[in-house]
Amino acid sequence: SLDTDYELIGYHEIRPLYRFRSKFSHKGTFGHAVIAGGSHGKIGAIKLAAEACLRSGSGLVTAYVPGCGLNPLQSSIPEVMVLTDGEEKEIREIKIPFQPTVVGIGMGMGTSKPSLAAFRSFLEGWSSPVVVDADGLNMLAKEKAMLKLLPPLSVLTPHPGELERLIGSWKNEFEKLEMAREFVKKVGCILVIKGAHTIVLDKEKGYVNTSGNPGMATAGSGDVLTGVITGLLAQGYTPLEAALMGVYVHGRAGDLCLQAQSMESLTAGDIIIQLGTAFREFY
Ligand code: AMP
Ligand code: MG
Repeated sequence: SLDTDYELIGYHEIRPLYRFRSKFSHKGTFGHAVIAGGSHGKIGAIKLAAEACLRSGSGLVTAYVPGCGLNPLQSSIPEVMVLTDGEEKEIREIKIPFQPTVVGIGMGMGTSKPSLAAFRSFLEGWSSPVVVDADGLNMLAKEKAMLKLLPPLSVLTPHPGELERLIGSWKNEFEKLEMAREFVKKVGCILVIKGAHTIVLDKEKGYVNTSGNPGMATAGSGDVLTGVITGLLAQGYTPLEAALMGVYVHGRAGDLCLQAQSMESLTAGDIIIQLGTAFREFY
């Protein structure tokens, strides 16, 4: 509502959150993230998210995909481990044989009944924060009772279409924010409302990101954001810090892309390449 504080987020707000690595850290210090999702023809979403997660500092990254994802992932990103479902074309069961630090889920996953059932039983057995994006959000919208299963402070990253499916339609931007704040209070999550000025909401207040450009309105751009936020959570940033830093760094990397690309040519993969420079600006 209008009495809520909205803070503008740029370099000066994010820089103090950045944590330098100790000389004596090892990969176990930075967590083990799982990136789950994908389906036949949509394994690329997981490739982008897993690579972005790794490039955002997660110590280890495992992709959890249906069988058709194994070969493309193993041959395109050797640093990422891969676990597969027994099914070839879609996820029908999510069994992770270790305790991951954080799970980012939903990209390219589809919303079929068996995938939804797998997602539901995963949530029933999981208690640390998760990052839910794309079809993960669409499944929550299909079966709203599943929202109660979300661990506290999970991060949800809808674009406008996904947000509307979750909270219903709005008449104007004020009403949208009011409905979104209600949702955040009810669910106990952190909501990242993606767009030209991405807004991060927690139950206390709202934050408006200032980095990014329309060149980022391109396939896979959001999958990269989910990977970045998941990677930051793996390293021990709090869910709010991970959402804020993730949104800022993702936009900043997108802005850096324009030194070599145009608004037309920018791709999600280019954003991943610029993550290094974007993080290095915190040194
Ligand atoms: P998705 O629709 O899931 O691929 O997510 C798109 C991503 O690109 C989100 O992080 C958006 O914030 C970002 N994005 C899309 N359009 C713009 C824009 N016009 N300006 C800045 N960022 C944008
Ligand atoms: Mg998306």
